[in-house]
Amino acid sequence: MKIMKFGGTSVGKPERMHQVKDLITRDNNKKIVVLSALSGTTNALVAIGEALADANKDLAKEKIEALHQHYLTFYKQLLKSDAAQKKAEKIIKEHFEFLNIILKISFNEAINRDILAQGELLSTKLFFTLLQELGIGAVFLPALDFMSIDENHEPELKKISEKLKAILANYPQDRIFVTQGYICKNHRNEVDNLKRGGSDYSASLIGAAINSEVIEIWTDIDGMHNNDPRIVDKTRPIAQLSFDEAAELAYFGAKILHPASIWPAQQYNIPVKLLNTMEPDAPGTTITAKEQGSGVKALAAKDGITAIKIKSSRMLLAYGFLRKVFEVFEKYKTSIDMITTSEVAVSVTIDDLSHLAEIIKELEIYGTVEVDSNQTIVSIVGNMIAESKGTMAKIMNCLKDYPIRMVSYGGSRHNVSLLLDAKYKNEALKSLNEGLFEW
Ligand code: ASP
Ligand code: MG
Repeated sequence: MKIMKFGGTSVGKPERMHQVKDLITRDNNKKIVVLSALSGTTNALVAIGEALADANKDLAKEKIEALHQHYLTFYKQLLKSDAAQKKAEKIIKEHFEFLNIILKISFNEAINRDILAQGELLSTKLFFTLLQELGIGAVFLPALDFMSIDENHEPELKKISEKLKAILANYPQDRIFVTQGYICKNHRNEVDNLKRGGSDYSASLIGAAINSEVIEIWTDIDGMHNNDPRIVDKTRPIAQLSFDEAAELAYFGAKILHPASIWPAQQYNIPVKLLNTMEPDAPGTTITAKEQGSGVKALAAKDGITAIKIKSSRMLLAYGFLRKVFEVFEKYKTSIDMITTSEVAVSVTIDDLSHLAEIIKELEIYGTVEVDSNQTIVSIVGNMIAESKGTMAKIMNCLKDYPIRMVSYGGSRHNVSLLLDAKYKNEALKSLNEGLFEW
């Protein structure tokens, strides 16, 4: 069995949804098809939730109506027969009636998550209606029947696996299963989700849960590129990456894959393929356990980083200082990305600023605290970077015109990370692109 996950742009237009149908029927293999919401829908649902949180019902109503119109146009182009169109009308009516009822009741976080779930429910139901119209046999698998997270928002892989296997056992003859990405149930049995971009994570969890042959992530780009194509003119897809390299790239800014989606695949050793719906025969990127080649393979940049420096004369010769510093971050559930130390100071970076004020206040107990916001982490990822000669010199040479706030080297053999002011990001990526790759 394989997993085929399609992102928002791959289902965002009626003609693209037809392409997805072509792609899943190219072979006779058993597959679970995981779909995102149509592109733009989750953003619209987030905006509806925000309007309701602000008690701005008029704005929420306006946004619901605009989204409703979008679906009314969509299904008419997607489906031909009267019967299929009637089905789609009913589906759309049901989901928009739900959104309109929410307008009348008092808003809370659980309701907000119900709102966010509508996108994937709509996309999968409309897609399933298309398959039915075309006489393509398929089974509709509601993700809410098997996908779950615990009280720490961690997926319950064992439970997911048991439930999903039990459901699949009811359909020994069927070959195509359609389910939602992103949505799940939480420990209170409420509708919840795997956070923005979480459909990739769903696909990977489902792959791990049934020990699938491969997890295919279909998007609108031909794999993971060696640099950010939105910033740098020349980039190329990377044919092969190890799980560790892919995790570093996904975490440090390569938008193509949700960073959490690596671990389930890695744990069960299931290859992940990043493929392009527009160019289905292009090789894309294959991510496996195999570590191949040496040297730099790709760059990625992560914005919105804040650096915090804690300087203390008491750190001199003291043990336990770092623990005290880290405990402050732990207390506020704020994860640290980069760390550098000197004898009298330590610098760390964070991207979640929700508790910055409290964190600074508590750190001031241990020394002077300085904060630099608007920083960018540039990550250089590859295999055996630390063992290869001259790579660091080349990197530094490319960056000679920019002040570097932090450097992290040797933490793993796959990564060198540098922290720069965000205003240097584009130039730095371009310069590294020229200096580190052969073109
Ligand atoms: N629809 C959700 C989002 O836009 C999940 C996903 O597409 O991965 O974040
Ligand atoms: Mg995505």
